[in-house]
Amino acid sequence: MKIAVFPGSFDPVTRGHESVVRRALPLFDSVIVAVGENSGKQGYFPVDQRIRWIAETFAGEPKVTVSRYEGLTVDFCRKTGAGFILRGLRTAADFEFERGIGQMNRLMDPGIETVFLLCEPEFSSLSSSIVRDIHRHGGDIRQFLPKGVKV
Ligand code: ADP
Repeated sequence: MKIAVFPGSFDPVTRGHESVVRRALPLFDSVIVAVGENSGKQGYFPVDQRIRWIAETFAGEPKVTVSRYEGLTVDFCRKTGAGFILRGLRTAADFEFERGIGQMNRLMDPGIETVFLLCEPEFSSLSSSIVRDIHRHGGDIRQFLPKGVKV
């Protein structure tokens, strides 16, 4: 079984995240979208709501499940039997950030490979943090969220 964990804050899940997961489906038997919880960091949308939106996005896609986790991503991978970490790359800044995390994860567990997908060009400016800012100021965020999500 090829299992991939797609870790992130997903605060909130966007069409960019959705696209990465859908494009990864032919590569893996299952993809676990894993919402990382950080006790020191509250986030903007409650974790339960973030999870509900991800579940709505992939309802009807049996290969995708959603989970929450705390602690190291490699520990969560070991616990779930995942051999792969999935990440999306938008920009050179993403690359530098991901290089650090990916190489450290590899040192911690060489049995887990990080797989990167370049994002679709139309999503390269889409980030959860900008979506949060728009929402905070009363803007309509629906066009940035997956179609299945009911805001
Ligand atoms: P984190 O809190 O770890 O930065 P995010 O929830 O922001 O996580 O993102 C999770 C993953 O999705 C990261 O690999 C990130 O680069 C990727 N990602 C975020 N937005 C997009 C997008 N618009 N297109 C493709 N990948 C994206």
